[in-house]
Amino acid sequence: MRCRSGGGHAKKTISRHTAHVKISSVGDCLFCQIVSGEIPATRVLESPRTLAFRDINPQAPSHVLVITKDHYRDLGEAAQAGDGLVDELAAQAHQIAEAEGIAGTGYRVVFNTGSQAGQTVWHVHAHILGGRAMTWPPG
Ligand code: 5GP
Ligand code: ZN
Repeated sequence: MRCRSGGGHAKKTISRHTAHVKISSVGDCLFCQIVSGEIPATRVLESPRTLAFRDINPQAPSHVLVITKDHYRDLGEAAQAGDGLVDELAAQAHQIAEAEGIAGTGYRVVFNTGSQAGQTVWHVHAHILGGRAMTWPPG
């Protein structure tokens, strides 16, 4: 695991929507490096603004991560972009679940947000988990 901080911004572009600062990529961010192809991953789905790939340490028979191609540190930052990006992540999550054959039986979508919630990679990502019965509450 390489990127645990949100620092080291390599390139910034100013969003045209608001004063919000959109960061295209962060040099030392693991998921930015997966987007660029510097670090390999098993890709399962791609759209112009999102990328989905298999988690390296799966916690269920199906465990896929869907990320934004631009760098946002967490769900809150991606939501502040306010341009339908989070809607797109949700739509991609459902499309992945259908492709994995888990949409009918049920699947879980998790955005760990912040260290106490268990976020370890500081680039927004949704976990799509399925293929087994889940328990609640989560640990
Ligand atoms: P978080 O703990 O931030 O919610 O989730 C980060 C996820 O990224 C973990 O489930 C972890 O297994 C996964 N991960 C960490 N490093 C890599 C990697 O190099 N490749 C892939 N495909 N997944 C990774
Ligand atoms: Zn990143």
